[in-house]
Amino acid sequence: MEVINLLEAVKEVLSEKRYQHTIRVMETAVELAHHYDIGDQEVKEAALLHDYAKCFSTDELQAYINQFHLPEELLSFHHELWHGPVAAEIVHEKFSIKNPDILNAIRYHTTGRVGMSLLEYIIFVADYIEPARSFPGVEEVRLMAKVNLENAARKALQNTIIYLMNQDMTVHPDSYMAYNFLTVKTKER
Ligand code: FE
Ligand code: FE
Repeated sequence: MEVINLLEAVKEVLSEKRYQHTIRVMETAVELAHHYDIGDQEVKEAALLHDYAKCFSTDELQAYINQFHLPEELLSFHHELWHGPVAAEIVHEKFSIKNPDILNAIRYHTTGRVGMSLLEYIIFVADYIEPARSFPGVEEVRLMAKVNLENAARKALQNTIIYLMNQDMTVHPDSYMAYNFLTVKTKER
C-alpha cells in the first residue's frame, strides 16, 4: 500500500504524540533497512502500522481480542501488550496486508519472539531506539543497532525484562524466550 495513504490512515486513529512517534520509528527503521541493505517499502508499511491500535481503549482492545480469537491468556498480561496482536489482525483485514513478515513485525513489536526475521528485528529495535526515547541504556542499544541487530534486540529485551521485574510486573513468555534464544545464539558465535 502507498505510504502516503497509510500516513493518512494512521493519523486518523493515533494521537498527535503517537503519530509523531510512528514517524520517528519509520525514519529509524528506514535507516536500519538501508544500513542492512534491504528494501524499505515493507519496513515503512510495518513501521507506520505497528502502533495502529495503540490509542484504542482497553475495552475496545479486549473486544478485538475476543472478536479475532486471539489467545485469551493475553488478557492476563498488562494491557500494554494487547495493541500489537490487535493491530496485526486489523491491518490484515482493513488494508489487506498479507506479508507475514509485516504482520509478525506488528504483532510482536512489544514482546519480541523467538526467531524474528530481519524486518521484525528492525521494527522491534527501531521502536526501542527512535530519537525521542531516553530511558537508561538506550544509547548502548543505538550503537549496537548499527553493528549487530540481534545483539541490539537482546540488550533491549534484557533492559525491558529487568525494568519489568524491578516494577514487580509480569514478563510475557515471548520476551524471555526471545531473550534466552538470543543469549544462547550470542554465546555460540
Ligand atoms: Fe507499541
Ligand atoms: Fe511504538
